[in-house]
Amino acid sequence: MRKLIAGNWKMNGLVSSQAEIEALKGLTGSATCDIVVCPPFTLIDRAVERARDSNLAIGAQDCHARQSGAHTGDVSAEMLANIGARYVILGHSERRVSHGEDDGIILAKAVAAHRAGLVAIVCVGETRHERDEGRAIEVVGGQLRESVPEGATSANLVIAYEPVWAIGTGLVPTNEQIEEVHAAIRQMLKERLGNDGQSVKILYGGSVKVSNAEAIFGLRNVDGALVGGASLKASEFAGIISAAI
Ligand code: PGA
Repeated sequence: MRKLIAGNWKMNGLVSSQAEIEALKGLTGSATCDIVVCPPFTLIDRAVERARDSNLAIGAQDCHARQSGAHTGDVSAEMLANIGARYVILGHSERRVSHGEDDGIILAKAVAAHRAGLVAIVCVGETRHERDEGRAIEVVGGQLRESVPEGATSANLVIAYEPVWAIGTGLVPTNEQIEEVHAAIRQMLKERLGNDGQSVKILYGGSVKVSNAEAIFGLRNVDGALVGGASLKASEFAGIISAAI
C-alpha cells in the first residue's frame, strides 16, 4: 500500500514557517508516498496556497461537529474544506485530555469530516497504565468501535495508532508491540468495514524520527506515520519521508 506520512505541527508555526511548506512541496514531485502537513488553523489557508500545484496535501488538527452556528472559537469541517484542507486529525490524545473529548465527540467530528469531504485521521492509543495492565488492544478496540463512523471507507478514513506514553517522550514501543496493535486494528477494520477495511491506512505515531522510521515502516500493517516534533523542520521530516519511499 502507498504510504502516508502526516505531519502534526500542533500549536507551532508562524507566518515564517511557510518556508517549511515550500521545502516540502519540492519533495512531493519525486515522493512515492503521500504527504500531508497539518499546521495550526491560522496557517492552513496560506499553506494551501503555497502547496498549490503540488502533491503536498494540507490538513487541520481538529474540527467542530456542526456546520456553522454559535460555537465561539470553533472551526467547522466545511470551513476547512472551503479553504482547501483535505485532511483533519481527530481524537488526538492531547485533545482527549485537555479538551475532554471522548469517543462520542470524536465520532461526531468524524461524521462532520466525511460530510464535508475531508479525510478523517482518527487517533487511538492506550496510556502507559493501560498498557501495563495488558489492556492496550482492548482500549484501542473500544476507541475504534466508538469513534469510526458507519460507512467510512478507505477513501475517507485513516487510523493513527499513537500510544499516549510514546507521544513527545522519545519512548517508542518495540516493533513487535507496534505490529501486534496494528494487526489487531486491521482485523477490527475488516470486521467493521468489510473488504475495504483492508485498504484503510493505519499510521503509527509517537516519537517517530529519522533513526527509527525505516524499521517502523517495514512492519507489515504499518502504512505510514503521524509525526509531531520531527515534522516541524522540513529537513528532518524529509528524512522520515525518504524512509517511506
Ligand atoms: P511526536 O508526536 O512525534 O512529537 O511524538 C506525535 C503526535 O502527537 O502526533
